[in-house]
Amino acid sequence: MGLRFTVLASGSTGNCSLVSADTGGVLIDGGLKPTDMLARFAAVALSPLQIRAMVLTHTHGDHWNDGLLGWLVERKVPLYCHPSHHHVLLRSVNFRALRVGDLVRDFHSNEEFNLPAGLRCLPVPVRHDGGATFAFRLTGPSDLFGSAFSLGYAADLGVWDEVLLNGFLHVDLLALEFNHDVTLQRQSSRPAFLIERVLGEHGHLSNDQAVDFLARLLDRQGIERLGHLVQLHLSGECNRPALARKVARNLFEQRGCSIRIHTGQQDIPLKPIEIGPLPKKRSVREPHNRLMSQPQLPGF
Ligand SMILES: [Zn+2]
Ligand SMILES: [Zn+2]
Repeated sequence: MGLRFTVLASGSTGNCSLVSADTGGVLIDGGLKPTDMLARFAAVALSPLQIRAMVLTHTHGDHWNDGLLGWLVERKVPLYCHPSHHHVLLRSVNFRALRVGDLVRDFHSNEEFNLPAGLRCLPVPVRHDGGATFAFRLTGPSDLFGSAFSLGYAADLGVWDEVLLNGFLHVDLLALEFNHDVTLQRQSSRPAFLIERVLGEHGHLSNDQAVDFLARLLDRQGIERLGHLVQLHLSGECNRPALARKVARNLFEQRGCSIRIHTGQQDIPLKPIEIGPLPKKRSVREPHNRLMSQPQLPGF
C-alpha cells in the first residue's frame, strides 16, 4: 500500500508534516495554530479528518503549538512523544488534558512502535539542543506480498551519524534538514553565539552536511530505491532554496540518479508526494461518510 507525504510548514517559525496511507494519516510535529493547519490542508485538497495521531520530534516551540494540542484533545487524537518531553509539555493546559484523556503515548529511542492507521514508526535519537530529539522512520501498511513503503524524516539535528544512516537505509523518500549554507551563516549579522550554536554539533544541519549524508546513504543502498528528497527547515536568513536544490542536484548528477527534489517552505504547503500505488485522493469537498461510519476512528 502506498504512502502520501506533504510538508504543511517547515522552518524556524513552525513545522508540521503529514504522512498518510489510505487507512489514515499521522502528523509529524504540530507547530502551527489549528486555523493555519486547516488552511494548509485545504490548500492541498486533503482532509484533516484523516489525522489519527501526532508524533513529536522534540519540544522546541516551532514544533508544537498549544492550540493544536487542544485540537487533538477535541478530536481524541493521541499524541506520541518521548517521556522526557513531558516536563516541557506539562506547561500546556492542553497537554494536561491529553494526559487526563489517556491520549498521550510514550515512545522510546530505537524501539519501533505501531501507530494508528497501520503505520509503524522507528524513533532514532539525534543530536540537537532541544532536549531529547528524534528523527523518524515511518513505514506504511504492508501489501499482500509483505512489502511496504517507508520514509525517513530528520528535521532538527546538528550532525548525522551511523545510527541515523542505518535507521534510514532503503527508504523510498528522505525528508532531511538543509538548514543553512555555512558561508551565509558566517557572513550573517547574527550574534557570534548564535552562529556557533547553529554550526555546532547540537545545532542544525548545513547543506553540505545534508549532501554528505545523502552521498553515504546512496553509497550504502545504491541509487535505485530512493525516489524523492524533501528538503526541510531552511533558514530564511542563511540559506536560499535555489542553493539547497543546487547542492543536492549536483550530487544526483554525479551519481546519475533521477531522485526528485522538493523543498519545504515556511508559508506554503508542499504539493503531496505519492509513493507507490494509492487510490484516488480523498478531496476535502467529498463527503466523509465512509470515514465517519468507522467507529474505531478517533476524532469524529
Ligand atoms: Zn526547529
Ligand atoms: Zn529544534
